[in-house]
Amino acid sequence: MPEEPCQCIDCQRFYREHDRLIREFPTLRQQQELNWAALQAFRTLSGRVLEDLQKQCGETKQETQKSLPDNGSDPDSGDSLQQVIADLENINAHLFSVEALMERIFDVKVPEEIEQKFRELAGELAPDPLNVDRLRLNRLLHQTPDLPDKN
Ligand SMILES: [Zn+2]
Repeated sequence: MPEEPCQCIDCQRFYREHDRLIREFPTLRQQQELNWAALQAFRTLSGRVLEDLQKQCGETKQETQKSLPDNGSDPDSGDSLQQVIADLENINAHLFSVEALMERIFDVKVPEEIEQKFRELAGELAPDPLNVDRLRLNRLLHQTPDLPDKN
């Protein structure tokens, strides 16, 4: 028996987003540009946050060294900040690797007739849910012979 795809709210949001990205970026070129921009945006933002946290962490260390050991500063806050910084450094390292891999994918160019094929199949994979023809077709498909139209 084929397994039904999960229909929880998170999965539904994923399917919608997935289909939208196919519908709105239906060529190889557009997918390349979209994913490159998304990767760069991710790197820029998380890199900037990391930089800020590292600065903040440096300042916290200086303050701790200056102050007395028992003046109420939370010893855990430094540790959890260290952990976040380590996690973000990890993410950035992975994003860097992904970028190196993506560069190869993005070197490829295909002729216009192949881009046309991309467009055609994108239309099949992710048809516009609000498209009039699509709505009409859906209505037809849901009128099964043993279930006559109520109108
Ligand atoms: Zn789910």
